[in-house]
Amino acid sequence: MADKVRLGLIQLCGCSGCHISLLDLHEQLLDVLPALDIVYAPIVADVKEIPEVDVFCIEGGARNEHDEHLMHEIREKSKVVIAWGTCAVYGGIPGLANLYKTEEINTTPYYTKTTDNPGVIPENGIPKLLDTVKPVTDVIKADYILPGCPPKPALNAAAIVALLNGKDPELPKKIVCDE
Ligand code: SF4
Repeated sequence: MADKVRLGLIQLCGCSGCHISLLDLHEQLLDVLPALDIVYAPIVADVKEIPEVDVFCIEGGARNEHDEHLMHEIREKSKVVIAWGTCAVYGGIPGLANLYKTEEINTTPYYTKTTDNPGVIPENGIPKLLDTVKPVTDVIKADYILPGCPPKPALNAAAIVALLNGKDPELPKKIVCDE
C-alpha cells in the first residue's frame, strides 16, 4: 500500500488491555509504525472528533448511550472496522454486568456497607447506561473480529500487516482467550 494507513484506536467499555497488547508486538512495531498514521488513539493523541480513517479498532463494547453513538460515528467514518478483543466481539468481562439489572448497577456502588454516601447519585452530564452491555457486533457491522483477552500479538500483527498490504487478514472464526 503506497500511502500510509490512517488508523484509529478507541477504548469504549474495555480495560485498555487490548491497547497495551499492541506493545507486545515489540520490535515488529518498528516494522509497521512507519506505514501507519495513527490519527485517533488514547495512547497517542488527545483528539476530540472522530476522524475519517482507513481502519478503526474498537476495544470494548457499549455500556452507555455515548459508547453506542461513538460506534455509529466510527462506522460512518471508517472504511474498515475491527471489533478488537473479546469484550468488543462477545461482551467479555463487562458483559457480566448483564447478569444484573441496570438499577442494581446504578445503586450498588453508592449504597454499600463500606460507602458513606449522602444518597445523591450523579446524573448531570453522565451518559445514560444502556439496559445491557452490547458488543460492537451487536451495534454496528464489524468488518473483522479480532478476539482474545487481549488479542494475541500474532493476531494483532497478522491483521495490521494484511491491511497494510491491502489484503484480508486471516483470522480465526472462534477464539476467546487462547489459541
Ligand atoms: Fe481488557 Fe480483555 Fe476486554 Fe481487551 S478483551 S478490553 S484486555 S478485558
